[in-house]
Order: sequence, then C-alpha cells, then structure tokens
Amino acid sequence: MFKSPLKVPALIQCLGMYDSSLAAKYLLHSLVFGSAVYSSGSERHLTYIQKIFRMEIFGCFALTELSHGSNTKAIRTTAHYDPATEEFIIHSPDFEAAKFWVGNMGKTATHAVVFAKLCVPGDQCHGLHPFIVQIRDPKTLLPMPGVMVGDIGKKLGQNGLDNGFAMFHKVRVPRQSLLNRMGDVTPEGTYVSPFKDVRQRFGASLGSLSSGRVSIVSLAILNLKLAVAIALRFSATRRQFGPTEEEEIPVLEYPMQQWRLLPYLAAVYALDHFSKSLFLDLVELQRGLASGDRSARQAELGREIHALASASKPLASWTTQQGIQECREACGGHGYLAMNRLGVLRDDNDPNCTYEGDNNILLQQTSNYLLGLLAHQVHDGACFRSPLKSVDFLDAYPGILDQKFEVSSVADCLDSAVLGLAASMMENLCLPSWDFTV
Ligand SMILES: Cc1cc2nc3c(=O)[nH]c(=O)nc-3n(C[C@H](O)[C@H](O)[C@H](O)COP(=O)(O)OP(=O)(O)OC[C@H]3O[C@@H](n4cnc5c(N)ncnc54)[C@H](O)[C@@H]3O)c2cc1C
Repeated sequence: MFKSPLKVPALIQCLGMYDSSLAAKYLLHSLVFGSAVYSSGSERHLTYIQKIFRMEIFGCFALTELSHGSNTKAIRTTAHYDPATEEFIIHSPDFEAAKFWVGNMGKTATHAVVFAKLCVPGDQCHGLHPFIVQIRDPKTLLPMPGVMVGDIGKKLGQNGLDNGFAMFHKVRVPRQSLLNRMGDVTPEGTYVSPFKDVRQRFGASLGSLSSGRVSIVSLAILNLKLAVAIALRFSATRRQFGPTEEEEIPVLEYPMQQWRLLPYLAAVYALDHFSKSLFLDLVELQRGLASGDRSARQAELGREIHALASASKPLASWTTQQGIQECREACGGHGYLAMNRLGVLRDDNDPNCTYEGDNNILLQQTSNYLLGLLAHQVHDGACFRSPLKSVDFLDAYPGILDQKFEVSSVADCLDSAVLGLAASMMENLCLPSWDFTV
C-alpha cells in the first residue's frame, strides 16, 4: 500500500485542484477507509486492501452518529458477539444512534468501517471497535438486508460528495469483520488484546484516526494555495490609481495589498512543507503498526502524531478560512464573482474545521497531550522527549514563563530591540521547533 507513500496524497492534491468534493471522495475511500482497514485490521483483511485499491469495493468511515460526534464515548451502535454462529450483530438501538454525516455513504459506498461498542456474552463491553460492514451490493448499489442507508441532503458546500446516514437492524457479520489489531474475540467469545496497557492500546489505535486529519491538513492548504494564486495573479494585473492619472499601477504594488496577501503566501509554503513531513511520519507509524511493533516508542509515536495532527488541522483549516476571505476581499468586486472560485473554495474549505474532529475539541486533545507530558516531567524531573522531537521546546518552559515583557513608555514600544524580544517570547511560547529536515 505504501510502496510510494506520496503517490496517493499527490493524486488527492491533483483532484482537489479541480474539485474539493472529488478529492474528499477519493481521500475518504483510499486514505480514511483504506487506512483504517490497513492499520486496524490484520492479515485476514488483506483481501480487502486489494479490492480497495482496485476500487472493486468503495468505502466510508462511519464513526459519527446523529446525536454524537465529538463525544465518541457516547456512541451507541452495538456489536454483540454470538458464539453460536461466530458472528457479530451490528445494531442501532434508535434513530439518534444512526450513523450520520458519513462521506460516500449517501449513494456510493459499498462497505463501511463502522465503529460500534463491542460486547461479548455476559454483557461485558469493551468500548468502541471498528468493524468492516458491507452496506450495499457492489453491482446494484442496493442496500444489504437490515441496512437502512441514504443521503442526508444538500450541504453548505462539497455537494459533489454524498454524505449519508445508516441504521443497522441486527445485521449479522462474520467474526472476522472485526478489525482486530487492537483487540479480538476468540470463536468462543473471549475478548483478547495484545495491549496489556490500556494507554498503549489507545495510543496505537489513534493511528487510524490521524491519517484523515493529516490528509485534511494538505487539503486545506491546497484551498489556500488556489486562493492565494488567484488573488496574487489578479492583484498583479489589476491597476488602480497611480503616480499620475494616466499611469495606474498594479494593486500588488501597494504595501497594504502585500501586507494582506504575502503572509498567506508564506503560510502556504510553510504549511505545505510541514504537511508533507507529517505525512511521512504517519507512514512510519502505520508501517510500525502493520509490522506488529508494540514497543513503547511506537505507542509514543502514535500519541505524538495524534497531538500534531490535532493541532495542525485547526492551524491549516483556520489559516485557510481567514486566508480565502482575505483573498476574496483583495480581489474587490471581481472576487465575489462565482466563476472566480473564491466562494466555492471558502465553502468547500469550511468543513475542514469540523470533520474528523471539531477544531476547538482537537486543540484540547493536543493540550491534554502536552499537559500530560508536563505532569510526567514535574513528577520525575525527566527532560521532555518525544520520537519526533516536537515537544523538546518545552524544556525551556521554566525560563520562558519567567520572562516578562516590560515597557514603560511609548518610545520603548517603538524600539525594535524591545519588539524583537516580544516576538521571540511569542515564538518561545507558541511555536514548537518543527524538524523540517525530513
Ligand atoms: C461535511 C462533513 C463531513 C463529515 N464526514 C464524516 C465522515 O465521513 N465520517 C464520520 O464519522 N463523521 C463525519 N462528519 C462528522 C464530523 O466528524 C462531526 O460533525 C464532528 O466530529 C463534530 O461533531 P458534532 O457534529 O457532533 O459536534 P458537537 O460535538 O455536537 O459540537 C457542537 C459544538 O459544541 C462544541 N463542543 C462540544 N463538546 C465540547 C466540549 N467538551 N468543550 C467545549 N466545546 C464543546 C464544539 O466545539 C462545537 O462547536 C462529517 C461532518 C461534516 C460537516
């Protein structure tokens, strides 16, 4: 699957240049659904991988329910194991437990990775686990028995993507449908997990969620890339005012126009580079998962990539959201003409702030990770270390917190040395020292 790890994202970028919905459709199938099967499944699921890449089956990732998205612990779809037939029974207890918002599910997906509460006989439940469930016949696209599936309707954007809902009425799937890398059920009905430590199991399972977020980072940047290119080209040719009435100059010559647009151009370069390096880190994580690496480093890498993806999706999608708006305004009235695409880019980028985790909630995940490291460090006094070194900057936190920004006059505020100190304090506080050497 990952012989050429950058090929799939490169294809997604090309599709996204043309249409965001098309890119999202392919991303959801190949990187979100495909990666979930690959990284959460085992040898017994390899047949699916071939079918996924030949597009003989088409997939979606069904976590969110009508009544719960962010609060995954409250998800209520169940998967009860029946040892008599060696099957799981997938069931939606009521309509609020319907899977909802699921991209590709509306009209086209034949299979879904469905997250459900795994319960074994004796009413012992072991939390959310992923199952591969056939929802439609690949030839007719008609729903499978017991599956009620359909499209949720028109959205604010990305209407080329069919977001859908599904309810399962006691749908029986073979025991092998459980994507069993993190936990399995024996034919007799005993739950087993290779991870003794729940923290390690959680860290490892985060890998499959990170791939969607890492891909969204690159899709968001792609939207900004397009918007900045449109606005800069327009600004380089649009002439307004000038030194004389006869000689108007391109609006890009005005420092204000540069001040508004060039930071977003810089952001495109920085974030684009970062997203590629993060994707390679993710490939390393998934290779480890596939080869059965259960080391502490592998689990730590899972947690670090989860924290990085949870912080960089908000950074990329919000920067793009603000950047597209600035580009729209920077093109004046013509920026509002639909054929100039800025409105479509703005609407299509918008859900990047919400799906695969609302941005505000995701930032809390990164905060939890960093605060957890801090608590650990305070307890045993060790240095901050992580596999990708993204937390090393925390070593300097006592010194940073001791720094004070003190000015006593307006003249001090205008002194470039004082401003330089303030900027370096901001940098110390906010920016991890990313390793851009990958
Ligand atoms: C276009 C689109 C495509 C999607 N595709 C998929 C898909 O393919 N598969 C899938 O499973 N899901 C999909 N989703 C669902 C998406 O992942 C969820 O909508 C998202 O995780 C947010 O969950 P929610 O809608 O339940 O929001 P809620 O959790 O209800 O959040 C509502 C608001 O409350 C705030 N909030 C919630 N909890 C807290 C808290 N503890 N502290 C502070 N604030 C809080 C949130 O920040 C948010 O602003 C998609 C959504 C969209 C819009």
